[in-house]
Amino acid sequence: MLRFAPSPNGRLHKGHALSALANRHMADRLGLPLRLRMEDIDPGRCRPEYESAILDDLAWLGIAWTPPMWRQSTRFPAYADALARLRAMGLLYPSFASRREISEAARVPGIARDPDGAPVFPGDDAILGAAEAARRRASGEPAAWRLRMADALVRTGPLEAVTVDADGADPVRRPVDPALWGDVLLARKETPTSYHLAVVVDDAAQGITHVVRGEDLLPSTAVHRVLQSLLDLPAPAYRHHPLILGADGRKLSKSNGAEALQVLRDGGLSAAALRAELVPLL
Ligand code: GLU
Repeated sequence: MLRFAPSPNGRLHKGHALSALANRHMADRLGLPLRLRMEDIDPGRCRPEYESAILDDLAWLGIAWTPPMWRQSTRFPAYADALARLRAMGLLYPSFASRREISEAARVPGIARDPDGAPVFPGDDAILGAAEAARRRASGEPAAWRLRMADALVRTGPLEAVTVDADGADPVRRPVDPALWGDVLLARKETPTSYHLAVVVDDAAQGITHVVRGEDLLPSTAVHRVLQSLLDLPAPAYRHHPLILGADGRKLSKSNGAEALQVLRDGGLSAAALRAELVPLL
């Protein structure tokens, strides 16, 4: 079972088209169904019009998927369950520093960065000062929840991920290094889950055997392996396809409207031409 898992928080671009095609290609090669999963846990950024635009783009590209469509926004109880299990293992702690406070504290030169370039979380005491951190802990205000990565890794031991080629063949087992991420955020104050937790819980619940996604998510696979191991969930095989770069040499972004599939289509690009351009990149 495979899944194409876009977030309906903007228009799809060629990078998403490549992901969808790569998923369809592997599903066909393996004779497995392809599911569509809306990763819409962020109510502030996800919109129904983006969801219908995704459906239109997939239909235009000729990518068939097997219903029913899965929506993460309906899955909060399952994410809460997983969080409660990790908490019961003593592997989570509440954190009160806001995103702004974290990035301000991270302005010090030489601070460790995670594979996405964000500061590795140094702890509320380091960010807020011990007294303010203790005050917030005692206040009962809503908290984010972070994984004690070092403790988690003692429990899991060394981890590996299996990668496959574009056809889903040639499995290779490689070590992963989750420690690079530090104490990752698993639930936010305003959203009681995170990308990492929701993906892992849903991949297991949907019986996903092969995860096909962009290379930008390759480092995240290490975090996903930790959570799968802790929660006793099966590990899918992974394929991370190359990213498509824009004319400026940077990866495409949903916020650049000019790169949207819909705009290219309205400008005369045919689905056949786009497929021909993308298939060699699978
Ligand atoms: N929702 C993610 C995105 O749109 C993809 C997540 C995944 O494939 O694991 O980039």
